[in-house]
Amino acid sequence: MDSTTTTTNGTAPRRLANFINGAFEPPAAGQYLASPNPSTGAHALDIPRSTAADVDAAVAAAKAAFPTWSKTPRAERSRLLLRVADLLRDNADRFAQAESADQGKPVKVAATLDIPRAEQNLRFFATAAQHSMGGHTSELDGPVQAFSYVRREPVGVAALISPWNLPLYLLTWKIAPCLMTGNTCVCKPSEFTSHTAYLLCELFNQAGVPPGVINMVFGDGINAGQPLVQHKDVPLVSFTGGTVTGARIASIAAPMFKKLSLELGGKNAAIICADADLDRAVATCVRSAFYNQGEICLCTSRILVARSVYDEFILKYTAAVKQLRVGPPTDPESDLGALVSEQHMKKVLSYVQIAKDEGGAVVTGGHRVHVPGHEHGFYVAPTIVTGLGPQARCMQEEIFGPVTCVSPFDDEQEAIEWCNNTVYGLAASLWTENVSRAHKLAAQIHAGTVWVNCWMVRDLTMPFGGSKQSGVGREGWPSSLEFFTEEKVVCVKL
Ligand code: NAD
Repeated sequence: MDSTTTTTNGTAPRRLANFINGAFEPPAAGQYLASPNPSTGAHALDIPRSTAADVDAAVAAAKAAFPTWSKTPRAERSRLLLRVADLLRDNADRFAQAESADQGKPVKVAATLDIPRAEQNLRFFATAAQHSMGGHTSELDGPVQAFSYVRREPVGVAALISPWNLPLYLLTWKIAPCLMTGNTCVCKPSEFTSHTAYLLCELFNQAGVPPGVINMVFGDGINAGQPLVQHKDVPLVSFTGGTVTGARIASIAAPMFKKLSLELGGKNAAIICADADLDRAVATCVRSAFYNQGEICLCTSRILVARSVYDEFILKYTAAVKQLRVGPPTDPESDLGALVSEQHMKKVLSYVQIAKDEGGAVVTGGHRVHVPGHEHGFYVAPTIVTGLGPQARCMQEEIFGPVTCVSPFDDEQEAIEWCNNTVYGLAASLWTENVSRAHKLAAQIHAGTVWVNCWMVRDLTMPFGGSKQSGVGREGWPSSLEFFTEEKVVCVKL
């Protein structure tokens, strides 16, 4: 991914800059990474290959801004974030185009999911924190009488590190609670998708957010992300990304006693019971497996179906998946765009081969798609694999692309064991028309979220996160309030 000066379409790639103390700065080492447009393969952006020197400058700016920002009234912090949200709404089309060109997803997905949700994140935390920042109180009424209350105080400079699948959506999910609770931050977006984070910095300036409150260093994980995690002036790290990276970050942050929030990988199952509304289950599982090219941590990658309805399910499901159109992200008819990178496309396709090697059958898809006019783009057909057992690698490992495995089960206990039989515990969905069965099965599933007869219905006031190797901690409100503040008890003897 080393930057060169030429592009495949002859136009000069746009060069991004870090955002430090309210100004756009070139990387200290003067080096850049080439970022291709996944739908064409063309070299579209040069992003700073930041190093520890850039991180030091960004952390220093955030540290200098902290004393004033942490004492800025909540109403003012809220006003500024809502101003950024307004600007994002006004620029929604430009952001959706940029997100799609950078990530490969259809513009219609960016325009209906990523950008509106980024705006909602800003509004949600800007208003939630206005109304519920206080901690609880208590009175001792024994021989010693005292009144105690909890103060919630901002922690300092936060490292906010995000992945490439929902770039602005996931970054604003961290920025908004971080800033509303009075912290300042240094963000490190994914090196694969830096563009909308860069554009967001312009909006923060336009909104009048003081310099240093939010800083952005671009670049890869080792040279930019890791120095940020290691920095002695960064007491809290909020990370969303892969489980292996999360373990590495934890190994650095834990001995330094940093506050750590980890949102990691998943291997989410859908359980289709015999009494499910099959048509609704089929329609939703098409979406849950292939939305955003299957590149959402919550996507369904294992579908476990009661044997009595398995044949009907697979027939309807395959027919529906075959209707999905893979095509240029700019085409409103495209259901799936390109995968984020060539390297990721190869990884996804390698799992199709692994599935075949392990005795699985590819019912549909399983190959790269050559889109006319976009021959160098990273497109993969939506893929259904059947015939795999619970221990198969495609049933165990996160593929994070448009591949889902469908298998029958004989009784519900078997389905639960299968569902729980991975190192992950992010999300699951459950399909049944029996409300009592739904509650009983939901209670047995090891996951941060269980959706019943739906998928990815998000209530931002609910705690979001994973169990087991899917993460540590929860995001949302009030979970993010707890993460981004320290509790202090003040006890007054009466
Ligand atoms: P990744 O772990 O490779 O990278 C995530 C971020 O971490 C990037 O910004 C990267 O540059 C940075 N990074 C990498 N190594 C680092 C290091 N040593 N120190 C500090 N930072 C480092 O993940 P990815 O490939 O960008 O994203 C895909 C993964 O993210 C999948 O596993 C997916 O399940 C997960 N994800 C989880 C959630 C969730 O909410 N649980 C949401 C979206 C994605």
